[in-house]
Amino acid sequence: MGNRMCSYCGGTNLVEEHDVLKLTEPFGGIATVEVIKIKCNECGFIEEDDRNDRVIQKELAILKRNSMIHILRDLNEKGYTNAYMERALGLPARTLARWKNESSMSPSASGSALMRIIRTFPWLLHVADCQFDQEKARTIFLTNAMTESININEQIKNWSVTSGAFTSENYYLFAIGYSRDIPVETISGCQQVFDNINTGCICANQ
Ligand SMILES: [Zn+2]
Repeated sequence: MGNRMCSYCGGTNLVEEHDVLKLTEPFGGIATVEVIKIKCNECGFIEEDDRNDRVIQKELAILKRNSMIHILRDLNEKGYTNAYMERALGLPARTLARWKNESSMSPSASGSALMRIIRTFPWLLHVADCQFDQEKARTIFLTNAMTESININEQIKNWSVTSGAFTSENYYLFAIGYSRDIPVETISGCQQVFDNINTGCICANQ
């Protein structure tokens, strides 16, 4: 081990041990790297080898790039084009394609965080596209929350969702309607529930 000394006791009877480190990045997958640990035979202290940093950073860079590739591919498959996302988010044209394809241009930490948030809640793109208008944002959020709530049930997955809030002097009713192909009836059903609440007749089987 040359002239190297133990950082803890100053001993020189050191040995190299190899270990496997698991690295993960959200949406980027998992990778393993072999790292070196230096063990002191005199006091038992184990420390990381300086060379590990370079190996870990190199592998993390690959995972981060994979993460961006997966995120953009998923969003593209959902129908969001790079041009639409760049416009909505106010990013310079071709930014996303360059993050994805050019190995010399890695996204910043904030760029990665932004796209991970968008990948998790793609409807935020609509919010951004509406210039973050608070009322529109609320409607988009609630509609998507309702959609998520029915997507929990596999049997009614991908049905269309309508929602609305109705108020009267004594009641506040939040109604969710979901349907396959008869949205007009769903909307009138919501109104009927509301009417019945107003008249004091609340029936569960509306
Ligand atoms: Zn030692």
